[in-house]
Amino acid sequence: MPQPLAGESPEWLSNLDALLERQGGWSTALHGIITKLKFNTPLTVEDGLTLYHHPNLSEVGALANAVRTARFGRQAFFNSNVHINQTNVCVLACRFCAFRRGPKAKDAYAMSVADYVEDLGKYAHAVDEVHSVGGLHPEWDVSHYEQMFRETRSAYPHVSIKALTAVEIKHVEIKHLGQRSQIPTKTVLQRLKDAGLTSLPGGGAEILDDDVRAIICNGKESSEEYLRIHQEAHEVGLPSNCTMLFGTVETLEQRLQHMISLRELQAKTSGFQCFVPYPFLPDHTRLPEAQLASGTEILRTIAVSRLLLNNIPHIKAYRMNIGDHVAELALQYGADDIDGTVQKESIMHLAGSTAPLDHDRSRLARLIRDAGCEPVQRNTVYSTFTPYTAPEPTHRRLRMAQ
Ligand code: SF4
Repeated sequence: MPQPLAGESPEWLSNLDALLERQGGWSTALHGIITKLKFNTPLTVEDGLTLYHHPNLSEVGALANAVRTARFGRQAFFNSNVHINQTNVCVLACRFCAFRRGPKAKDAYAMSVADYVEDLGKYAHAVDEVHSVGGLHPEWDVSHYEQMFRETRSAYPHVSIKALTAVEIKHVEIKHLGQRSQIPTKTVLQRLKDAGLTSLPGGGAEILDDDVRAIICNGKESSEEYLRIHQEAHEVGLPSNCTMLFGTVETLEQRLQHMISLRELQAKTSGFQCFVPYPFLPDHTRLPEAQLASGTEILRTIAVSRLLLNNIPHIKAYRMNIGDHVAELALQYGADDIDGTVQKESIMHLAGSTAPLDHDRSRLARLIRDAGCEPVQRNTVYSTFTPYTAPEPTHRRLRMAQ
């Protein structure tokens, strides 16, 4: 299992003290929170509400940026990855989902293992991670994924596999229960790890409140199941990410309690590497009552995440969802990771994302540098870090003639 605070300065608490003192002039309303941050005391729901309602967003961002800078300096992490979504066929129909299709839909697809490996082959020279999540296919069981991971690792041993959300793990278990071969989720996870799975993505957490889940993703795994499956993953040595889908029907208190539930599990296992908060994108979904989130609310939520999640090392600005422009700003609001080169992605783009997919490492590094940070390439499990020097741009903006 990776160190709980992978890649951060061991002196981050004294760095933070110095940064907070140097900046000074903090609003009185934030003094209690600042004292807790200096002693690494976990913030409460009430603290979170203070941050959400604080009238000066820039100040909340500056506080989150101080914590992020104390831990990581100006480093911003990225990786070279590709998203391959193995199937869009799903037995569920979450109301926020624009991706899933019924098995008989004209545009339903399910990649065979050979197709999957062949597709990855188009990108394998340029990536060290494949990120794969998909629908809950009615026929695929644990053996299918074992074969998929074995053949992937055999063909491309340098590519890490970050795949299958908690509900996909649960579905694989149910498939086997249906076939009367008792196989609990922890055994599923161990078998998949043995077959080559590197880590779990965090998708499917949505909001860890079963009243919200009943409205937006009825039938999906419960809050307790999401946390249990991630705990089991950590126990078998699979690190994972965790996420939060916000801007549907949840309250601020439910968002904050969601973060605290993740923080409490992290205190037991240290297996979460990264928290990925992303707003609901409404295109082609069935959730007309969703609140949606503005750009400033996205930035504030990223800042609040950084301040509440004091034991989850990385906060990701998921550019596939929030777009490159907001992701750049998020690097000044507490985020330290911007995901990867990606190159191919379906789930967010079907829901309305316009994030470009054509970034190579140098374009991504330039985006990071424009945000005032230093690009550092990381591996999937945040155990190796390589500073990246972006080539000078070939075109510079010209000054207008006087
Ligand atoms: S979010 Fe996942 S589980 Fe829900 S309908 Fe979409 S693909 Fe299926």
